[in-house]
Amino acid sequence: MELNTDQDSLMLSPFLVSGNVGFKLPAVADWGERSDVTSVDVASASVQPSGSDDHAYLVIETEVSFDGEEEPVEVWACSCPQWHYREQADDPREAGECKHIRAESKVSRAQADEDQVQLGGSD
Ligand SMILES: [Zn+2]
Repeated sequence: MELNTDQDSLMLSPFLVSGNVGFKLPAVADWGERSDVTSVDVASASVQPSGSDDHAYLVIETEVSFDGEEEPVEVWACSCPQWHYREQADDPREAGECKHIRAESKVSRAQADEDQVQLGGSD
């Protein structure tokens, strides 16, 4: 009985049993498969707590390069159900933002502004 419990918990925890493996969101993997996308780079990743239960979600900032475009497009993705079912899109440019992405992008933009101020030397 105890052995079964151990096996169950291992099956629920792929990170424990699979060793060297990265975590990739299915939608982000799909973007990389598009014929008009040349590359998908992860610019940053963080974890945001759920506001309503004990989950935590992976929030990823990606830079998607399109064929023929000079500048990559900044696109966010999240592992939460809301983003998965409502905000993700086949075209990364049409993907929306859940509250975890909004919380994280706010932090990241504030940090960018702060860096800007420090670089500019103004107050
Ligand atoms: Zn989310």
